[in-house]
Amino acid sequence: MADHYEVLGVARDASQDEIKKAYRRLARQLHPDVNPGDDASERFKLVTHAYDVLSDEESRRRYDMGGDENGGFGAGGFGGFGDIFETFFGAAGGGRSARPRSRRERGQDALVRVNLDLGDVVFGAHRDIEVDTAVLCETCHGSCCQEGTSPVTCDICGGSGHVQRQVRSLLGNVVTSQPCGTCEGYGTTIPYPCATCGGQGRVRSRRTVSLDIPAGVETGLRLQLPGSGEVGKAGGPNGDLYVEVTVASHPTFSREGDDVLATLEVAMTDAILGTETTIEGLDGPVELEVRPGVQSGDVLTIKGRGITPLRGTQRGDLRVGVQVLTPTKLDSAQRRLIEDFAKKAKAPEPQLAQFQQGLFSKLRDRFRGH
Ligand code: ZN
Repeated sequence: MADHYEVLGVARDASQDEIKKAYRRLARQLHPDVNPGDDASERFKLVTHAYDVLSDEESRRRYDMGGDENGGFGAGGFGGFGDIFETFFGAAGGGRSARPRSRRERGQDALVRVNLDLGDVVFGAHRDIEVDTAVLCETCHGSCCQEGTSPVTCDICGGSGHVQRQVRSLLGNVVTSQPCGTCEGYGTTIPYPCATCGGQGRVRSRRTVSLDIPAGVETGLRLQLPGSGEVGKAGGPNGDLYVEVTVASHPTFSREGDDVLATLEVAMTDAILGTETTIEGLDGPVELEVRPGVQSGDVLTIKGRGITPLRGTQRGDLRVGVQVLTPTKLDSAQRRLIEDFAKKAKAPEPQLAQFQQGLFSKLRDRFRGH
């Protein structure tokens, strides 16, 4: 093996600064990204190894004494090249990555949909949702390797993750750097992939995610659960989980902002005499008082029985629009009573007033405060 001092072209008593300068100059000259070809690559390895030994005082002392220099050209010694090179030149040299890419990748985000009804929206809801996604391989714990084995430096690219190709062109030979096809740019290959995950470090699995859905959500809203998405390749960090909410329409109640709307059908006689009734609200029974003489389109407002807003604690209102039902079938006795009532009440003649778009729009207008 060549003498490390000779390789770097420095004196045996060179200072650390001189050693560093010498390495920097040679590495620039010889780095495989800059200077392709087997010869330069071999010299680059020698130079880097020499620097590796001499830049550390302890290993330099051992080397000077002719002892074990603690290293060599095995996978361990070679693994340090990228780091040393990066120290001097930064991660990317001239737009090309000097380092192999990491096998660990962040997992993708996952999206699941959850269906709610309006009742769930009032206070919020709890759901256990099934998520079909990638989870960490229990066998290799993300190492991708069979037990007792580990990735080895790629023979083709020597661990850099990149190979140089010389292309002949009109301007002469052009050198391009591209990801190594053998190791896919990782710089290492896995000789014995984990059998459970096929060397991916993760497996698909169905898991249950416990989810608290806040009150006040609306259809189309996406809740983000950071880190609950799929696990990354080779034990990389998890993506996020998004839960998209769909709120089913309710047969009786509808929503306007934080208010809940419904219609109360009241018999003509109750409308005249007034009554009390209990309706089943979204969150339990609600007592309603219908005053005597209530009209179609009157709105009963029950404060604080609407929806808890997504941001805030003040619940909206329950607003019930009254629709008076006129009897359509009377027997003769009932008819006589009504005729008798009409005579005594001296009801006014039908009168012309402004046209109204039926009860529905009348109610809607009143809800809006017109
Ligand atoms: Zn595995």
